[in-house]
Amino acid sequence: STQKQFRITIPGHLVHPIAADLEESSRCSSLPTTWQFSNADLANSREYAWSELSPDTPDEFPSNLEALPTFPMIIAHIPYRNAAGKSAFVIENIPLQALASKKDASSEIKCFICGISMKLSDMRTHVGSHILLMLRSSSENDQGLEVMGSNPCGWCGRDSSVGGCWTRLVLDPKGKKQPRTESNCDYHYGGMRYSAAAAFSTSSPCTNMPLHCQICAKILRGEQRTFWKYNAMYHMLSEHSSEEVAGQEISLPEVPLEFILSTFTSRKEETALGV
Ligand SMILES: [Zn+2]
Ligand SMILES: [Zn+2]
Ligand SMILES: [Zn+2]
Repeated sequence: STQKQFRITIPGHLVHPIAADLEESSRCSSLPTTWQFSNADLANSREYAWSELSPDTPDEFPSNLEALPTFPMIIAHIPYRNAAGKSAFVIENIPLQALASKKDASSEIKCFICGISMKLSDMRTHVGSHILLMLRSSSENDQGLEVMGSNPCGWCGRDSSVGGCWTRLVLDPKGKKQPRTESNCDYHYGGMRYSAAAAFSTSSPCTNMPLHCQICAKILRGEQRTFWKYNAMYHMLSEHSSEEVAGQEISLPEVPLEFILSTFTSRKEETALGV
């Protein structure tokens, strides 16, 4: 019979060598030695491999998890089972966020601010107009002000203190592929094409995108931190302002021109979003 063949690709840093014990086999003379792995070695390797995925670090865990290979269901002997038939070599207590199902582009979702339903792929632009309106208008009689707060998530519009959403921009180290976004937000649209969405167009007018902060990168020796474009002022004030104790004056560091250009919202965009 023909054996089905599979090929999987695993990033090198996720491969963990484990040494086998060689055992003389008494049962089968054509295979004089067999390989054995002790239970403890397997358990230790499993724990180590899992910890290498940084399950407690929300910034790193999703991309690490994504890098893991998945096996087609037809491979019947995975997960491995022990002699009693119970699944062995499995990780229990996986953080909930890892299991949260991601919605696809056409899923119908409801705006947290105004309650209107729309496709997931349209929500970022819709939420963007709520945020711009809030930023530009006098704060009274604003719908959903409490929901949006001062640091609204660009996917769902909820303030970071309300929704607890984080989003991270991940660039291809070789600069060839599109930047990716990672987020724990329920309304995260992972299929968004970054370069198309970041540029203003009449069909996609909202340029509220996750950006890397060049000022953070300078202070943190190259570590990239992400903020939402429309929240640039909040990021500057919360991360890069210093309050003089005596004079009560808030001072901002010198803002690089690149920061100003990348966070500038055009009049055209505001008009298109109804601001
Ligand atoms: Zn809305
Ligand atoms: Zn969100
Ligand atoms: Zn910063």
